[in-house]
Amino acid sequence: MIEQKGILFILSGPSGVGKGTVREHLFKQKTDLQYSISMTTRDKREGEVDGVDYFYKSREEFETLIEQDELLEYAKYVDNYYGTPRKYVEETLASGKDVFLEIEVQGAMQVKKRFPQGVFIFLFPPSLDELKNRILGRGTESEELVLNRLREARNEIEMMHAYDYVVVNDEVQRAVDKVQAIIASEHCRRERI
Ligand code: 5GP
Repeated sequence: MIEQKGILFILSGPSGVGKGTVREHLFKQKTDLQYSISMTTRDKREGEVDGVDYFYKSREEFETLIEQDELLEYAKYVDNYYGTPRKYVEETLASGKDVFLEIEVQGAMQVKKRFPQGVFIFLFPPSLDELKNRILGRGTESEELVLNRLREARNEIEMMHAYDYVVVNDEVQRAVDKVQAIIASEHCRRERI
């Protein structure tokens, strides 16, 4: 019998590695994946839209979601909470659709405990210098925040070995192609009679 349930794909990796860019390009090409929009307590950046980029929550609202077990995972990242809505992911997978998460490393490790059958993809920077330049180049954050992000990035890279796949983000389209290939091959792996 062909497996009916959807596959959970988790794209993760250090801050500044380009997860958001890879995800955006992937979704321009790939329409049969469901992106899980995260909750966050961080301020909305210019151009971001509530319910599209994130669901923006107050700290109190977010803590209530944690207490009510509404989150599949959550992490405190540079003083803000980020989390994945549990019901959306469970219900979408149960309906047979694939779900795609783009989250940081602590959260990905929590998902691995609850969904060990998920497919974990680690996006790797071409080099640490390049990662530093990307974090600095973003230009939207204070020096202290940049230093925090760099420190976290070093810790996160050590988690790479817990993942199923590593994709080097040297060039966006090449990284997207590799993620597409992983998605296709994971479907082939499950198509057993
Ligand atoms: P940003 O503030 O730049 O949008 O995101 C900061 C970091 O939080 C990124 O590494 C992003 O992948 C991660 N992130 C976004 N949503 C979630 C989530 O739901 N859970 C976790 N654990 N991390 C998230």
